[in-house]
Amino acid sequence: MPYTLLIRHCGQLLTLTGPPATRPLAGPDQSGWHIITDGYVACEGSRIAAVGPMAELEESQLTPATRTIEAHGRVVMPGLVECHTHLVFGGQRAAEFERKLRGESYLDILAGGGGILNTVRATRAASEAELLAAALRHLADFRRYGVTTLEAKSGYGLDAATELRLLRVAREAGLQQPVRVVPTFLGAHVPGPEYAGRPTDYLAMLVNEVLPQLDPAEIPFVDIFCEQGAFSVADSREFLTAARNRGFGLKIHAEQLHELGGCEMAAELGAVSLDHADYLSAEAAARIAAATQGRTVAVLLPLVPLFLRLERYAPGRAFIDAGLPVALSTDFNPGSCPSKNLWLALSMGCLKMGLTPAEAVAAVTRNAAWAIGQQQECGSLAPGLRADILVLNVGSLPEIPYWLGDNPVQQVIIGGELVEENM
Ligand SMILES: [Zn+2]
Repeated sequence: MPYTLLIRHCGQLLTLTGPPATRPLAGPDQSGWHIITDGYVACEGSRIAAVGPMAELEESQLTPATRTIEAHGRVVMPGLVECHTHLVFGGQRAAEFERKLRGESYLDILAGGGGILNTVRATRAASEAELLAAALRHLADFRRYGVTTLEAKSGYGLDAATELRLLRVAREAGLQQPVRVVPTFLGAHVPGPEYAGRPTDYLAMLVNEVLPQLDPAEIPFVDIFCEQGAFSVADSREFLTAARNRGFGLKIHAEQLHELGGCEMAAELGAVSLDHADYLSAEAAARIAAATQGRTVAVLLPLVPLFLRLERYAPGRAFIDAGLPVALSTDFNPGSCPSKNLWLALSMGCLKMGLTPAEAVAAVTRNAAWAIGQQQECGSLAPGLRADILVLNVGSLPEIPYWLGDNPVQQVIIGGELVEENM
């Protein structure tokens, strides 16, 4: 079959390919992936057909029907994989943001019925159509930033009916536009207001009333927030074990504000990712890397401490040196990070967590794909993978984190189709 799309004269083609094949990139491999100078990417329909230096382009595969995109010596890379978002929610919390800036504490706001309960009320009150319209708007914004695959958690319903509604909306949003959406069930975000002070009873309700209604083929992951004021390590272990027994992949929000041991517990259960990890020590990271043979990814969320004005950031440099694979994400949500700018998260991963530009790019592509089980589909530029490709407006890899807060995306290709062009 001839090429349907050719992207040529890529000054730096960031393929993100290279060993190992059977686990995420860790240690020296996180920056050791391949860059091709003056390269091309060719696609056949929705898949990548060939990647290589311009000198090796098979001209015989080109026809008058082949669409050609000139990269003019700029950087070309895989589409961004956004591996941790709370995409579907009602309302927003700008008024609370302003109150916090004026000096009110999170606990004051929570005591007045604000915080996450504010979003839960707005989410429960929103119709399915309203939630879908908001999710589609956010997805369009993510797409302009070059996100081509996105994980979307439930977790602002906190009752069986609303949680199921949020998962339906996430799936429907994935069908109505080109960004691939991977839904995660996070009913165990905090105990629902009807279960205040009874977290164990709330989790039992989720296990008995919600998990049996979910199909792991449609909702591949179950997540829990393990933290003071949310769920204990013991309760989280029991809940995740129940989810694993039903065939779900596991994720955890842990070590965000305290070192409780949630990350090690979830790694022991075979979780695909450990998210936040701001209080995870380098020693614990090394134990997790050894115990999981480098298969569990630490998903770091540097825009959260920025937005919450906290001092502590996950020691990403130490994690990579300890052999723990690192991914980066925004944690897009209405409370602790309303940003959809994964490029800013990438830069902050360099500035506040000590990643190099090459490690940070791997953290938003190949390792992020591993963190949501999509590594066979996306995250690198190799024959057979989905043709999710970005043409940037920069000329070299270190320029990506350097233009702080910028959107370097010029063209977005998803499944072999040009879906965005920022001129
Ligand atoms: Zn989160």
